[in-house]
Amino acid sequence: MIPNKNYNNLKDSYLFFGIAQKTKKYLAEHPDKKLLRLGIGDVSLPLAPAVIRALHEAVDDQATKENFHGYMPECGAPFLRETIAKYYNGRGVELVSDEVFVSSGASDELGDILDLFGRDKTVMILEPAYPAYVDANIIGGNRIIRLAAGQENGFLPLPSEIPQEEDMYPDLIYICSPNNPTGATFDYAGLKEWVDYANAVGAVILFDAAYEAFIEEDIPHSIFEVEDAKKCAIEICSLSKTAGFTGTRLGYTVIPKALERGGMNFNAMWVRNRTTKTNGVSYIIQKGGAAVFSDEGQKQIHENINVYKRNAKCIMSVLDELGIWYTGGKNAPYVWMKCPNNMGSWEFFDLLLNEIQVVGTPGEGFGKCGEGYFRFSTFGSIEDTEEAARRLKELLGDKNEKL
Ligand code: PLP
Repeated sequence: MIPNKNYNNLKDSYLFFGIAQKTKKYLAEHPDKKLLRLGIGDVSLPLAPAVIRALHEAVDDQATKENFHGYMPECGAPFLRETIAKYYNGRGVELVSDEVFVSSGASDELGDILDLFGRDKTVMILEPAYPAYVDANIIGGNRIIRLAAGQENGFLPLPSEIPQEEDMYPDLIYICSPNNPTGATFDYAGLKEWVDYANAVGAVILFDAAYEAFIEEDIPHSIFEVEDAKKCAIEICSLSKTAGFTGTRLGYTVIPKALERGGMNFNAMWVRNRTTKTNGVSYIIQKGGAAVFSDEGQKQIHENINVYKRNAKCIMSVLDELGIWYTGGKNAPYVWMKCPNNMGSWEFFDLLLNEIQVVGTPGEGFGKCGEGYFRFSTFGSIEDTEEAARRLKELLGDKNEKL
């Protein structure tokens, strides 16, 4: 028996491994130092009180014969599917509840969803990118083509930039907006170009909207705000960053009924897939998730998001003062900066670690075109972020001999 040989093509996640190794070594050599961690992609604030109350109530339901829930519907509890559909309706997107599928998080879905397309597909990944897109497709045996983004297009590449070569036609296109790692966010016009392109070449867009709740400008939160997107897109979303569910686990995926290719309907196929491959998400967690969309829940999650936004402003104002180029921060919990003096991203990582004990994420780990850039996450504590920003300003300010 020969196992899936594609696993041999995976590269070790040397990004997070490399960061862990370097910080561990530094702390072993400098036990008196405290690191300010602005590299993490995990949240630091607790769940909203409205969510906690709903979780407690759901636990109590499980204690009584009348209210007990066993297996949940595979595609999600009707109460949550309806709640999420209404959330979209509130933004002017017409959806019905059975176009919404409840999941246990975006990562799970990003891997599982490839079941819809079969093997040997050509997948376009806009880089720098969240590493799971690449790895899930390597495991699945798909061919990956990369569209590199850069400073010249604000890290928002458009289909007109795809090289006119025969082997550059994708079956699938990953778009993450607001983006991890760059924080760059497509406006309506940019997304419309992608939608038109996908419909023209018959591709499907996998739209990762994990950070939609961070958008503050007048730009789409969902690809379905764009005309004709229902004919070419699947949207994958998560409550992880929106509402602090990284450890609680809940997400949702929208597959419009209008989405078809080759005479096959993706919504119907996903129903078939879910009824085969899951027994649903926990009743308790779905109750907690529904509370996120209540008026009280929305108010409370945005209070937390505003704390992260304050962190972003703190970093952005130092970069503004220093005249350093960056993107993100405004509609996303990540600030993506150009390393000063043309430093490499690992070189800059070492500098920050050794000189000011600040840990960020080297851009190169998100794809080759991330070399020379650096990501700060805004999910840390206010105190650590303020102190890190102060040290950054001191280090990168004028006439610093260390640079
Ligand atoms: N998509 C993006 C762009 C992310 O950054 C993350 C997590 O960091 C995920 C998906 C995964 O989210 P989840 O916690 O729902 O699996």
